[in-house]
Amino acid sequence: MQAEEYNRRGKEMVDYITKYLGSIRERRVIPDVKPGYMRQLLPEAAPTEPEDWENIFNDIEKVIMPGVVHWQSPHMHAYYPSLTSWPSMLGDMLADAINCVGFTWASSPACTELEMNVMDWLCKALELPSFFLHYHPDSRGGGILQSTVSESTLVALLAARKDKILQLRAELDQDVDDSVINSRLVAYASDQAHSSVEKAGLISLVKIRFLPTDDELSLRGDTLKQAIQEDRARGLVPFLLCSTLGTTGACAFDKLSELGPVCEEEGLWLHVDAAYAGSAYFCPELRWSMKGIEFAHSFVFNPSKWMMVHFDCTAFWVKDKYKLQQTFSVDPVYLRHENSLAATDFMHWQIPLSRRFRALKLWFVLRSFGLKNLQAHIRHGIEMAKLLESHIRSNTDFEVPAKRHLGLVVFCLKVWNTLTQELLRRLTRSGTMYLIPADIYTKRIIRFTVTSQYTTADDILRDWGIICKTASTLLAETQALNYADQSQSGEDDVIGDEEYQDPVLDTGSDEKEDAVASLESV
Ligand SMILES: *Cc1c(COP(=O)(O)O)cnc(C)c1O
Repeated sequence: MQAEEYNRRGKEMVDYITKYLGSIRERRVIPDVKPGYMRQLLPEAAPTEPEDWENIFNDIEKVIMPGVVHWQSPHMHAYYPSLTSWPSMLGDMLADAINCVGFTWASSPACTELEMNVMDWLCKALELPSFFLHYHPDSRGGGILQSTVSESTLVALLAARKDKILQLRAELDQDVDDSVINSRLVAYASDQAHSSVEKAGLISLVKIRFLPTDDELSLRGDTLKQAIQEDRARGLVPFLLCSTLGTTGACAFDKLSELGPVCEEEGLWLHVDAAYAGSAYFCPELRWSMKGIEFAHSFVFNPSKWMMVHFDCTAFWVKDKYKLQQTFSVDPVYLRHENSLAATDFMHWQIPLSRRFRALKLWFVLRSFGLKNLQAHIRHGIEMAKLLESHIRSNTDFEVPAKRHLGLVVFCLKVWNTLTQELLRRLTRSGTMYLIPADIYTKRIIRFTVTSQYTTADDILRDWGIICKTASTLLAETQALNYADQSQSGEDDVIGDEEYQDPVLDTGSDEKEDAVASLESV
């Protein structure tokens, strides 16, 4: 392809994308394909001769789109938002063209400097503590864009571990191997924390204790304090708390205002995972859950979720950048430059060496929307969730088993778990919307996240209409099958994980038969 053709094809691609996103409501949210579907659609090996772009372009609708989950659809309610926006896409278009690899300041000064500036903008916009700012007289901290929250949580754990190991080394008079100290360390998170916390423990061979939450699914200060005392008595060394603001299951908030002082007293690094909820802090009225944030050593959230800066873009701040650098610094000659001392080299703040120019899309989004419209976007999403919640609460077949926070509503049928699971399966199979399950203790629930910035009240009412209709058909079938008695006997109806199948991969046969089968397992 030559420049002239790129110019023409590029405009065609922009037309295609505009049309795709503009008419996304018309597509099934979830594809109707089985594993391996693409194998028959592609040749066995790459072509020897070059192909015309026309051919390649036509395969987008033939090969790719039939297997795409349309995350930008207003009927996408699974997981969490993973939004894009026009300025965000323009940002990456330019970043892809520049395609610099900004590991050091010298490898592309604009890449590092834009990142430092927009991370400070973002820090101020969310009203995070000023010790997270790069450009502030008393600050030792700063922000960086990482690839994911999972990676940032691992980075926080590794930095906290290094810090604790150095502290203990200084206290001990004899020489003890790091691996011996490592085996004594223990970190904490709530039983609602994201699986990435467990993964960070697996990678680092550090013990993590998942602590019980209160009836609002929040981790409390006393629970942490008690766990620390127990572990110290067993000869362990507590060093880190991974707290969550906005948990994945039901968007619960750990009580930072209680946990922060405990971490400070006990010498624990406090890491805060606000992956989804972080975007809400643009709005002053939603900052109540950040109370205690002044105790944090690191804070992370995903602009790539709700803020409409497309994946990947994870904003991570540390209070003391030297603690990152002492964990990740390597200093080969070929990466040294004459401004090494005066400049920020982000390679020392992260696991990989190379880094993309992610700050461009963040800069474009912050400027194109302005804080005012970002706030309006968040508030609109919450309004839509409230609308759905009010309808669920007014229907006696359903319940809302955990408090709604932000744009996430969780609900279930009042009868058995198996019926909630079956309702979810039928909705998934219809392709009309995408929802996923979660468990709150013994209760199987359905999570409904408002995602798209284009979601309207009509979209919500349409989805609720489908949910209601599917549920009443299911409940009527259940009654016809004469299982009503069993529901009154209060039988334990917990679904074990082994019985649960991912709805997308579920290849069950006829719906009626399946309903009977799943009811028989009650
Ligand atoms: C989404 C989410 C994560 C994982 O984010 P990645 O960027 O995909 O690693 C972690 N924690 C919470 C609370 C989340 O909602």
